[in-house]
Amino acid sequence: MSDRYCVIGNPIAHSKSPIIHAAFAAQTGQDLTYQHALAPLGGFDAHVHGLIAAGFLGANVTVPFKLDAARLATRLSARAQAAGAVNTLSFQDGEIVGDNTDGAGLVADIVRNAGVELTGARVLLLGAGGAARGVVLPILEAGAASIVVANRTRATADALVAAFADARVTACEYGEVGAVFDVVVNATSASLAGELAPVPPVAFGAGTLAYDLMYAAAPTPFMVFAASHGAQVRDGLGMLVEQAAEAFAVWRGVRPDTAPMFSLLRQPA
Ligand code: NDP
Repeated sequence: MSDRYCVIGNPIAHSKSPIIHAAFAAQTGQDLTYQHALAPLGGFDAHVHGLIAAGFLGANVTVPFKLDAARLATRLSARAQAAGAVNTLSFQDGEIVGDNTDGAGLVADIVRNAGVELTGARVLLLGAGGAARGVVLPILEAGAASIVVANRTRATADALVAAFADARVTACEYGEVGAVFDVVVNATSASLAGELAPVPPVAFGAGTLAYDLMYAAAPTPFMVFAASHGAQVRDGLGMLVEQAAEAFAVWRGVRPDTAPMFSLLRQPA
């Protein structure tokens, strides 16, 4: 029987992960299947134990279970510990190993696919939720000079900064943003509601990459706003593909080529 993997979420039917992992498996000649797994709200632990009993070797985890996955894991990678959240589980030797490949996916998409250098970059991070927290350590490890965190609720930004205890990571109010940044990452969920975080136009210039973690068929309000102030813009599809490639490498020890995925996923449904 083929090795079995899945993506756990609620809702989950919209997830593109099965398409991505099926393509990776075909490309690398790995004998595996990958499916959607709808876990009931409040029923994550039992669902995971059911998957293990059924012989699954691993699972990706998405909204709203990333914190549950971090709690359930018997062992965490350093990047999952820093993120406080898990998007990749491996079931091995009676252990549930938690990892987080979201931040590595973002960095890979910025550096490799967009061709934007993070070494020495001044980064403005909008939002301080789970996604924001997950990208801080990988951005620092990629050599960023500084990360300024702006969030609607200041206390959450301060807590994030305190958790990292690194002089390169500081917090500010949106209204205090007073200079142009090399990279602006929108890790708020505002775009999901068609809204825009109140980031001042001064943050954007011709040399700025404005990156929205969200992806959609049309440019998000953040991308439209940033582009209108001269920035180069990019949505989170590449991050999705790259975090999947990183998870695939964690499970299978083989790194797939992500380039063919972009045209596949941009095709209209
Ligand atoms: P959370 O719910 O943990 O955090 C949401 C954040 O957005 C908070 O900082 C919140 O501020 C802020 N926020 C929400 N609405 C607004 C608004 N109208 N104006 C300003 N700030 C706002 O969400 P996640 O961190 O899990 O996810 C954030 C985004 O990242 C989502 O769009 C998600 O789809 C995307 N994502 C993309 C991935 C990819 O692979 N491309 C992977 C993971 C996430 P406050 O603290 O004040 O409430």
